[in-house]
Amino acid sequence: MKILVVLEVQNGKVKKGSLELLSQAIHWPKAEVHALAMGASGSLGAVAGDLRRFAPAKLHLAQHDHLNSYSPDAFAFTVAEAAKALGAAAILSSTSAQTKDYFPRLAVKLDTGMASDCTSLKCEGDQLVAKRPLYAGKLTATVEFKGTKPQVATVRPNALGFGPEKAGDVAIENSSIAPPTPMAKVNEVIAKAGAANKVDLTEAERIVSGGRSLKSAENFKVLEELAAVMGATVGASRAAVDAGFRPHSDQVGQTGKTVSPTLYMAFGISGAIQHLAGMRSSKVIVAINTDPQAPIFQKADYGVQADLFAFAPALTEAMKKALH
Ligand SMILES: Cc1cc2nc3c(=O)[nH]c(=O)nc-3n(C[C@H](O)[C@H](O)[C@H](O)COP(=O)(O)OP(=O)(O)OC[C@H]3O[C@@H](n4cnc5c(N)ncnc54)[C@H](O)[C@@H]3O)c2cc1C
Repeated sequence: MKILVVLEVQNGKVKKGSLELLSQAIHWPKAEVHALAMGASGSLGAVAGDLRRFAPAKLHLAQHDHLNSYSPDAFAFTVAEAAKALGAAAILSSTSAQTKDYFPRLAVKLDTGMASDCTSLKCEGDQLVAKRPLYAGKLTATVEFKGTKPQVATVRPNALGFGPEKAGDVAIENSSIAPPTPMAKVNEVIAKAGAANKVDLTEAERIVSGGRSLKSAENFKVLEELAAVMGATVGASRAAVDAGFRPHSDQVGQTGKTVSPTLYMAFGISGAIQHLAGMRSSKVIVAINTDPQAPIFQKADYGVQADLFAFAPALTEAMKKALH
């Protein structure tokens, strides 16, 4: 069974979620796994090196002016053509803002169905079997694909974990696919100061999140200091984002990002269903809240009833001593 794993490449590097997916797929019995990377001409030189630990059967490079920046129509077209040329029985990628946008278009182009944001994915014979959360994580659906059309799925970063290494040289094939001129095009991406060094929330192993109770943007410094010591990424509840304490890109929840870190620490977050929807698949949840009745404690593995303004700096100091 031929499987096409579509890689997400940022600043020339393969994103962790893509590597994780590849590291699992290459061990599925009967799977012949191919990887596809898309981008501007000359921008994908480092991709083969990134794949060496989890070598696929072949790496297909689609480099074209129309792929210089993200465009849903050019990306969907390129993946569809690459999948057809390969005769791929399954097309996979990790969940991201981009794949949420263009993978459904890809499924429509191929006249097939799609399982999005899966938290588990296996290959049984020629069939993918996926699990995906429904109703803000209250239910988990098992999804199987019927028929002979390509099976299309995206998988949540951090959900599968890394499979064992299978190192090897990566054979490269340069694709001649010429995507049409994009209907809409990003002319310039303006990176925020410091954004390049920040691990994206969706791929972070550790997240330190704050809520309305932080009271101001400046007060988030207590969480930033803790995050710096722990190697964590700072997140926020919608109340904190709506109040202007953090940008929307930091929001965790139903209308923000869905995260699956190993450790999620919620400081002064009540645990509304819409927040839980974005972080309930975290492996270990720690809640710090002054209110013992706060709903977040029902979901937390560890609960601390404390004032965050006293607890966070004390934890930062204790971690500094323990780790450095
Ligand atoms: C359609 C829709 C979509 C939504 N999407 C999202 C979403 O994506 N993400 C999201 O987060 N929310 C979302 N919400 C909003 C959600 O319902 C809650 O309003 C929001 O999550 C509450 O944020 P909060 O926990 O920071 O604030 P609050 O609910 O006000 O909770 C603050 C908590 O801090 C505690 N506290 C106060 N002071 C301290 C202190 N000094 N130390 C420790 N604890 C303290 C309090 O006991 C309380 O539990 C959505 C709502 C709707 C209707």
